Amino acid sequence: MSPGSRSHYRGRFAPSPTGPLHAGSLVAALASWLDARAHGGRWLLRLEDVDRERCRPGLEHVILEQLARCGLHPDEPPLRQSVREPLYAQALERLLAAGHAYPCACTRKDIDAALAARGIAHRRSGERVYPGTCRAGVGDRGIRSWRLRTDAGGHAGVLHWVDRRLGPQQQDVTHEVGDFVLRRADGQSTYQLAVVVDDAAQGISHIVRGEDLADNTPRQILLQRALGVATPAYLHTPLVRAADGQKLSKQTGAQALDLRDPRAALQGAAEALGLPVLPGPTLADWLAAAVQAWPWRPA
Ligand code: GLU
Repeated sequence: MSPGSRSHYRGRFAPSPTGPLHAGSLVAALASWLDARAHGGRWLLRLEDVDRERCRPGLEHVILEQLARCGLHPDEPPLRQSVREPLYAQALERLLAAGHAYPCACTRKDIDAALAARGIAHRRSGERVYPGTCRAGVGDRGIRSWRLRTDAGGHAGVLHWVDRRLGPQQQDVTHEVGDFVLRRADGQSTYQLAVVVDDAAQGISHIVRGEDLADNTPRQILLQRALGVATPAYLHTPLVRAADGQKLSKQTGAQALDLRDPRAALQGAAEALGLPVLPGPTLADWLAAAVQAWPWRPA
């Protein structure tokens, strides 16, 4: 399927329901909706609630209501990740059977010790780069997680990919991230596994999301290849920053959206995406003007 193909376009907005949508998440919602509409495609909603500790039940309705007030209506019933663990477990089984994944018994302390022994700078954006200790087996140590072999399928070295906005990108996943966790022993799948399984299951052809997630894309491409599923086209949008330059998120205290005037909220999101001030006596007119002004329209 070519990324420009109109009829096959399937995009999605995939919020984690840890709070109501904030200004940053509205940007991702609007961008993914505009790209889908500009391509004559479908726009789906997926609630990424695998992290049961962080996600709050009942927020699905709040988020759907917020989107509806902005005129953003999903074309299919929303998918909820919390009911899909058996599918993620099946995907992991396939990876294990193919030798692309392996169980890991390492604690954080074990990983720090292994990295120190190798003299490797061991943290990247606060995360430990896993040095692959348990590729050799866990012996009689208890399993704590399952990891993807970042050399799965013979992949070696730097992974290259092209973002529709950022252009050519690259990452050496093995050395910059390490074999990453797919599932924890408590049965909880990670974002990386769930997002790849579900993007494939929903037939997503185009992913449009915030630039903070661009760094995850090479991991997801490796996982797609290991599972033998298609790689979608990617567009990572500019991030909305708080006044202090921090990424706007629930963690940095972003306020819930004020949707008493949905067009004002949408106009703010559109400006973050580099769109001009748009006319529109009604919400529908405003959205139609935004689709016309969307800079990443198909050629
Ligand atoms: N659930 C993720 C988030 O809210 C987005 C995942 C994605 O778009 O791939 O940050």
